[in-house]
Amino acid sequence: MQIRDYIEANKERFVDELGSLIRIQSISAKVENKPQMLECASRWAELLLAAGAQRAEVMQTAGNPVVYGEYRAGEDLPTVLIYAHYDVMPVEPLELWLSDPFEPTIRDGKIYARGADDDKGQSMMQVKGFETALRTGNLRANVKFIFEGEEEIGSPSLEEFCKTHKELLRADVILVSDTSMVSADVPSLTTGLRGLAYWEIEVTGPNRDLHSGHFGGAVANPINVLCEMLASVVGEDGRITVEGFYDDVEELSSEERAMIAQIPFDETAYKAAIGVRELRGEAGYTTLERNSCRPSFDVCGIWGGYTGEGSKTVLPSKAYAKISCRLVPHQNHEKISRLFEDYFQRIAPKSVRVKVTPTHGGEGYVCPITLPAYRAAEAAVERAFGKRPLAVRRGGSIPIISTFEQVLGVKTILMGFGLEQNAIHSPNESCRLDIFYKGIEAVAEFYHNYQG
Ligand SMILES: [Zn+2]
Repeated sequence: MQIRDYIEANKERFVDELGSLIRIQSISAKVENKPQMLECASRWAELLLAAGAQRAEVMQTAGNPVVYGEYRAGEDLPTVLIYAHYDVMPVEPLELWLSDPFEPTIRDGKIYARGADDDKGQSMMQVKGFETALRTGNLRANVKFIFEGEEEIGSPSLEEFCKTHKELLRADVILVSDTSMVSADVPSLTTGLRGLAYWEIEVTGPNRDLHSGHFGGAVANPINVLCEMLASVVGEDGRITVEGFYDDVEELSSEERAMIAQIPFDETAYKAAIGVRELRGEAGYTTLERNSCRPSFDVCGIWGGYTGEGSKTVLPSKAYAKISCRLVPHQNHEKISRLFEDYFQRIAPKSVRVKVTPTHGGEGYVCPITLPAYRAAEAAVERAFGKRPLAVRRGGSIPIISTFEQVLGVKTILMGFGLEQNAIHSPNESCRLDIFYKGIEAVAEFYHNYQG
């Protein structure tokens, strides 16, 4: 049987099986839903076995259980690891839902329910794509599944699970369906995510708050000094002036820049939506390149002195700021934090003392579009959606993807089929049925194309 025929013959069952997962209220943020977490994990194990996995089990972690499943095709064949999450976001405010969030309801060709897209719908596309490939004789790979129940609360147990089960999770490539496409008519694959470095800076001047009339003009004001130092970080051309900051930044290839240029983007509407008259960023790059493929520097908060009602003429003793840098792949957040610490210490005038404290950070991620598995996914999406997908980088971060690269040493293909209008995390989350079936087809075609 052909891939499309198999999907056509089984489409109702696929939706029913998705419904059986949706009805389980696996809200990881709520402690009282612990029993439903286990119930959802067990249901997934059943569904994996029914889809053709030879083994599927619920494995304990320090938090919610992980579902592990596998299908072994042969020692000499490549191995694909599917990562997904079975937990969902809370549903409040309930009154904004047009139908019960835990009762899948079909209206205008869409399934409405919490998890219809994120990530029960999308993980079902992966599993049914696997089943379709297997039953139509298109599967020439070993397939492993790891579904966690804590993604929506920051995956606190997954890194440890990966570290202790490295051998079990050994794979050639990881497939994840938990991101979105540009639109239903512009299919895309996410090929990059930015990293982050975050730190706090404390500037101390005099040993106490001073009278600005008695001391102003004679003593350095830590807030003034902090502002001068921060203002020196970004130059006129929008580039970060700290020496060595761009050392590890890899330039975009002309092929990637050409793809980014094809993403529909209305700059006038973008400015209007956020209420600014002019955009600003690094010279030589477009807005979409700046907010996804180039690093950035932002002061997230700044305080000190007197900020209450009325006025108080004070020359404060201390000034503070919280600062973040979005990083691009290959920039190491610890190295970047050190660069900034050295920079602020170097430029600080003798009139103040500066303390820089890194708080957290994470690495970016990039999937080379020349990777054979990427090419297989690209051709698969093109076959299912009728258009070559664009390679799109995202400005945000998905920490678990860089963890997979660091702990397991495996690249991830972000083969997501979400749409902006699916309203994930919001009331009336939905998933278009036509996209649900096309997603299944794309996954099945991936196995057809993928030779390792
Ligand atoms: Zn998700």
